[in-house]
Amino acid sequence: MTQETHRDESLLGLLKGVEKFSHKVFQENKPLFDELAGSQSPHTLFITCADSRVVPEMITQTEPGELFVCRNVGNIVPAYGEMMGGVSAVVEYAVTVLKVSNVVICGHTDCGAMKGLLNPDSTKDLPTVEAWLRNAQAAKSTVFARKVDDADILQATIEENVRLQLDHIRTHPSVRASNQITLQGWVYNIGDGSVTVLDEHENRFVPLAAAIKRENHA
Ligand SMILES: [Zn+2]
Repeated sequence: MTQETHRDESLLGLLKGVEKFSHKVFQENKPLFDELAGSQSPHTLFITCADSRVVPEMITQTEPGELFVCRNVGNIVPAYGEMMGGVSAVVEYAVTVLKVSNVVICGHTDCGAMKGLLNPDSTKDLPTVEAWLRNAQAAKSTVFARKVDDADILQATIEENVRLQLDHIRTHPSVRASNQITLQGWVYNIGDGSVTVLDEHENRFVPLAAAIKRENHA
């Protein structure tokens, strides 16, 4: 892994990265890329934040062709009809055409979007971000109504936003029409590499081991 102090921040650095990928990494994985060259059949729609520290394929240890990924500020899925755009199109395409089996909505610790939601002053000069975050406003309202301790507000909002976006995605006609799809909410902890999973029966986020146990018995 490149250390922060050694990283090349120039465009040249990116081009050199591609050079290494095309000549080395791609060649080493040629059978996989040959198989993927003409079609894709991802099993999971993975919706997460645009944050540079959240890397879906690394976190889930999946390969190219497995995840259909949608990233945006705050891992938000506007309720259907609320804001027809890129996210709605991704959901419709993934569910109707690619027929993904799973949808994961993954929030994360230290999320700048959720901090912005909690501190409206910080987004007052960012009209687009501010408008986008309205799709998460109900999460903040729910947390405030629960009178959560100050120290826990950010984490509670991150979790509540995942719950809210799961509610939102369920309003999309393609998702409503599918009875084959499994929806799950996650929070990735950037500080320790762990993931907690929303147990919708118990309405709380549980450690990964508990989620794996439940899934094994499903
Ligand atoms: Zn974020």
